[in-house]
This record gives sequence, C-alpha cells and structure tokens, in this order.
Amino acid sequence: MTTGTVAASRRVTDYTTRFRTFLDDEVAPVEAELAAAGVGTVWQPALDADGRMHPAVWAARREVQRRSARAGLYHPHVSTRAGGDGFSRVEMQHVEEYVYRSSGLGLGLAALGWTEGANPAIEHCSDAARGRYLEPLLAGEVTAAFCNTETSVGTDVLAMTTRARRRGTDWILDGAKAWITNAHFAEVLQVVAVTEAGAGTRSLSMFLVDGDAPGVTRGRDIPTMLGDGLTGELHFDGVRVPAENVVREVGDGFALAMAWINWRRMCRGGMCAGWGSWLLERAIDRARTRRSGGRPIADLQAVQHLVADMDADVYAARATSLVAQAELDELGPFSIPLHPDAPRLISLIKVVNDEAFFRVADNAVQVHGGTGLLQGSPEEKLFRVARNLKIPAGTVEIQRNAIARGLLR
Ligand SMILES: Cc1cc2nc3c(=O)[nH]c(=O)nc-3n(C[C@H](O)[C@H](O)[C@H](O)COP(=O)(O)OP(=O)(O)OC[C@H]3O[C@@H](n4cnc5c(N)ncnc54)[C@H](O)[C@@H]3O)c2cc1C
Repeated sequence: MTTGTVAASRRVTDYTTRFRTFLDDEVAPVEAELAAAGVGTVWQPALDADGRMHPAVWAARREVQRRSARAGLYHPHVSTRAGGDGFSRVEMQHVEEYVYRSSGLGLGLAALGWTEGANPAIEHCSDAARGRYLEPLLAGEVTAAFCNTETSVGTDVLAMTTRARRRGTDWILDGAKAWITNAHFAEVLQVVAVTEAGAGTRSLSMFLVDGDAPGVTRGRDIPTMLGDGLTGELHFDGVRVPAENVVREVGDGFALAMAWINWRRMCRGGMCAGWGSWLLERAIDRARTRRSGGRPIADLQAVQHLVADMDADVYAARATSLVAQAELDELGPFSIPLHPDAPRLISLIKVVNDEAFFRVADNAVQVHGGTGLLQGSPEEKLFRVARNLKIPAGTVEIQRNAIARGLLR
C-alpha cells in the first residue's frame, strides 16, 4: 500500500463516519417529515399532473443537499482548486459505495452531489462565472443540468444541431435538448452546442446558461421506467450568453462533455458496489426468514446459488472498479486532453458494473419471489434502475467500442 493510499483511507473513514452521523441527525428528520406528507420518497416520488417529481419530494431533496453542503459532505469529488475536497477516484469509489450502501433508497442519496451538483466540467468555468454558478452549486443553493443529448442525437454526439453563433462578444444559442435529468428544476444549465460545424472534436463548446434566461423554455416531461419525474426537454431560442459563460475555451465542448460523462461512468463503481451489497444483505435476510417445505429457503441449494452469484458479481465488479480507478488516478481521470489509456479503463468500469449490477438486481428479485415484483419494493425499483444504467452516460455497446479502440489503437 502506498503512502498516498494510507492517507486517502483516513480521509475516507473520516467522511463515512461523518456521513453516518449526518444520516441519523440531518436526513432522518427530513425523511420523517416527507413520510408524513404521504407524497412518496425521492426514489419513489408521487408525480404531479405533468408527470414531474412532486414539489414536496423535490423540496426535501434540496433541503438534504443544503444541509450536506453545510456539513462539508456534498462535494468531496470536486478539486480543491475549485472549492471541493479533491478526493481521488479510489477514495470516491469507497465514499460512493458507503453512501449507496448506507442510504439504500433513502434521501441520504441526495447528500452526495450527482447530476444536479458541481462536476469535473464546470470546474473549468471562468473566474467571472465561478461566483455566479460554481459557488452557489457547491453551497447547494442551486442545481444544475447537463444538456448534451437531443431528440435525434444521443450516442452520436458530434451530430448535434444546437448551435451557438457569435454576436459581438456574446453568443446566441438556438436549439433543443432532450432526455435531460433535472430539466425542469435546474437553475444552471451546462449546454453543449456547435460553434464550428465540421471541426470534428473541436466543433463543440460548453456554455453556462441561466435557467430563467430570456429564450429558455422547459419542454415536455419525458417519463422513463425510473419513474422519478426528473427527465425532460429544454428549448433555447435566441438565448444570449455572455463570453464569460463559455466553459474553458471555445472548441473544448466535446472534451468537457466527455469529462462530465466519464465522471458518471466512473461513479458506477461505487454505486453498483454499494447498492449491490445492500441488495445482497436484503436477499440473505429474506432467504433466512422465508420458509418453504418447513425450512428456510436459505437451506435450498437453488437459493444458495442465487446469493452466491450475487456475491460473485458484486465482488468482481468492485475489484475491477478499484483497480481501474487506481490506474485512472495515476493517469489523471479528468485531464484535458485525456491520457489515451484512460477511456478503456473508464469504459471497463461502466460496462462491468452495469452488467454485473443488472444480474445482481435480477437475482435479488428472484430470491424475494413475488414480493420482489411488488411495485415500489426496493428490489423492483433497483431492477428498473439497473436496466436503465446500461443506457445513459453511454450505452454498454459504446463502452465496448471504447475498450476495443484502446486495445487496437
Ligand atoms: C434516464 C435518463 C437520463 C438521462 N440524462 C441525461 C442528461 O442528464 N443529459 C444528457 O445530455 N443526456 C441524458 N440522457 C441521454 C443518454 O445519455 C442517451 O440516452 C444515451 O447516450 C444513448 O443515446 P440514445 O438514447 O440516443 O441511443 P442511440 O444512440 O439511439 O442508441 C440506440 C442503440 O444503438 C446503439 N448504437 C448507437 N450508436 C452506436 C455505435 N456507434 N456503435 C455501436 N452501437 C451504437 C446503442 O448502443 C443502442 O443500443 C439520459 C437518458 C436517460 C434514459
């Protein structure tokens, strides 16, 4: 073990100890209030008439984010230069695993900055944009949305049609984005748009746009199998964006979009290890208490094999993640330009975890029998989550493309 790893593990232990206290002291009361309101939970929310997350659920989630920011737990992954704690990817793997395992499907999950928080792309904003966007995000005062995908363009990012044209020193943004998480609530929009058509990976730029800027409208809600009421469309019609809201340099949009997407890909490691372990513990409890033929189903080899397969998948995916995250820490996981060996490792984390977790969630449902299919049960919900994971932040096929490119280049 290197000195760096020893130091890192102390920081992780400090974080997880404080997170445990935070769950008990700060999250539990908000969860109790939400339960009394009878509008579901963050992960099983009641939806409003538009199919959007119920406002009371959203408010509870926001309250936890603000408390988490005050407690110094919201942004361990953000670099110290940008105002975060600068945890390495290996440290974040441990932190994320702990957060997902200890929160289960509770409100505690909102305490760790995710799509709606600060991220490795926005860290590159100008000094002028820092006070206006990054600092409020770090404080949990506002939320963000990453606006890359369009109705006709998902995987094929460079074919996007949303454009930004120069007008004086400003930019004018026109187009529409779809499948955007937090589309209807975000105050800060990280929009990727074409600034130089035909320039390949230099054709795009990233802009920070106020959610209430003239010309921004929230489009239709897009209901997905997640049922969280968070996905939707955004329209940009002649939106004026000042030059200081360009993130990094004009032409860096593709690299910045990939930094954001790669961050989400790497986060699969801790998420799947944490939720996978949680499902395994629940499956073992169920196997010990559910009886068939006068004895616990845990005595049956058929059920023993289900939990053994769950353990094997969680263990193998976790091991892959830890090794790959350590290698990525050496290479610089978010460097621009990214080290050529990094994409393969990032995609290995995503594809191995997405597919292992899908099998884990499937086996978890099987151990629980009909109860695992009950709408709103943790097993049923996480089975839907697991199916979803294989598509956003790059499909599992695209991960294979990246792995093959890394091997064959
Ligand atoms: C719940 C949810 C939340 C999301 N949140 C966001 C968000 O916050 N921001 C955002 O910008 N986007 C978001 N997305 C969009 C998401 O990133 C895209 O759905 C994803 O990138 C896949 O694109 P697509 O849906 O257009 O699929 P397509 O690109 O149409 O792919 C369809 C099929 O073709 C395969 N395919 C396509 N191209 C290739 C290729 N070159 N090689 C091999 N196979 C290929 C794919 O693997 C897939 O099997 C979200 C999506 C969902 C479902």
